[in-house]
Parts: sequence; C-alpha cells; structure tokens
Amino acid sequence: MSERRPIVGGNWKMNLLKADAADFCRRLTAGLGAAAAEVVLFPPFPLLDAVVRGVGSSTVAVGGQDVHPEAAGAYTGDTSALLLRDVGCTWALCGHSERRRDHGEDDELVARKATAAVAAGLLPMICVGETAEERRAGRTLQVLETQLDGALSGRPDPFVIAYEPVWAIGTGDTATPEIAQEAHRHIREVLADLVGEPAAAAKRILYGGSANPDNAAELIAQPDVDGFLVGGASLDPDRFLAIISACGS
Ligand code: PEP
Repeated sequence: MSERRPIVGGNWKMNLLKADAADFCRRLTAGLGAAAAEVVLFPPFPLLDAVVRGVGSSTVAVGGQDVHPEAAGAYTGDTSALLLRDVGCTWALCGHSERRRDHGEDDELVARKATAAVAAGLLPMICVGETAEERRAGRTLQVLETQLDGALSGRPDPFVIAYEPVWAIGTGDTATPEIAQEAHRHIREVLADLVGEPAAAAKRILYGGSANPDNAAELIAQPDVDGFLVGGASLDPDRFLAIISACGS
C-alpha cells in the first residue's frame, strides 16, 4: 500500500430510513477503532442531518450524493454545495454513473459540479468508469481519459477520483485486481498529464463496483488502489466495517 491515506466511502443511494441511519451510525462509530482509512458516508439528502448528528464528533465524514453547480436559485429538487455545507457535509459525489444514466449528466456538467463543490469548501469525489459495451469494444482507457479530461476541465483542487466500471456496479461482477490496477494506473497517468506528476502521485483513486469484505483485501493490495466507494455492502455496518478494516489499522 502507498503512503496515500485510503478512503472508504459508503454510497447508500436511495436506501435506509432515519431510524436505520441512527442505528448504522451508532454501530459504525462504535466499531471503527483506529482505522487507517478516512471514512465518508453518502446518505440520501433527507437523511443528511440525521447522519451528521449520528456520526457526531467521530472521524466519520458526510457527503451529498450529488450537488448542483449553481449556488442558489430556481432549481426545484436540487441541492447546492452551500446547502450541503450548511447541513454539515464536507464531501460531494460528482458524476456517479447512475446520475449520468438516469439524469443525463455529461462531463461538462460534472466539471461544473466539481468546481462548485470546491468553491464551497467541499471535497468532490468524481466518478468515472466505462460501460460493458465500451470495455468489449476495447475503449476503456480512452473513455476514462475523456471523462477525466472533461470532469477536471475547471481544474478543481482538491479532488478524489472513484473508478467505477459501470458493469461492476451492483452486479456482483467485481473487477479483478488486475483489471482495477490497469484502470487505476491509467487514471494516474492521465492525471499526471492534467495536473502534473507530483500532484497525480498524491491523488487518491478509489475503486467502486461490488466491493465487499471478501474482495477488498486483494483490491487494496494493488499499488494504485487507494480505497473504495461502496454501494450495496455499505448498507450493513458490519460489512462496511470489514471493508474499512481491509484498508489497514
Ligand atoms: C456505487 O454505486 O457507487 C457502487 C460501488 O455500488 P456497489 O458497491 O453496490 O456495486
């Protein structure tokens, strides 16, 4: 493992209710111990306040699953970076593949979201990853390059990247450590072109896509894998804690 401090994010998507969130936070904070990884939870918007209160003064951070590029205005149903900050968030997910697929988000919009997040003092976790079709067509590395180039066009700093192959999300079809490492290494090379070699070497690149307690250790052992963005396995505090433990103590 590198000297980059690992990060484990839990993306709850549209799951759990207030009482579940409170129980989750109790169990997570009680079980965390001296984890090596930074931990961040991404609950649905209506649960943000409960989760911020639930994690209390622990080291667990909280983030929004999405963020609007504008600071305020007539954007029904959307949430700004300032609102996220105001409720106690320090992170924002930008460009998750489910947002790209279900809400037509493109790289240009993802770039504006990342820039807005940084401007408000949030750390953006920018998600990139190829579809199964793109992988079959041998276009994976090119797709990653295009997504990074677009999403980082506003030169946000700081930022974290989550490599999430779309075919691995929620399918149980986790990327092999070799596939993950190849993509992560390529992402780091693209980052070196975009932000310079020393900055790229320090950037955390997380893996997401059916990560679980059984595959986390071999994935985190890859030289360019710096942690996880976890969906399904983040809904159970014991499974989430096991992934955090795999990142060291
Ligand atoms: C995700 O959606 O960010 C994710 C990684 O989901 P899962 O772990 O369920 O594949």
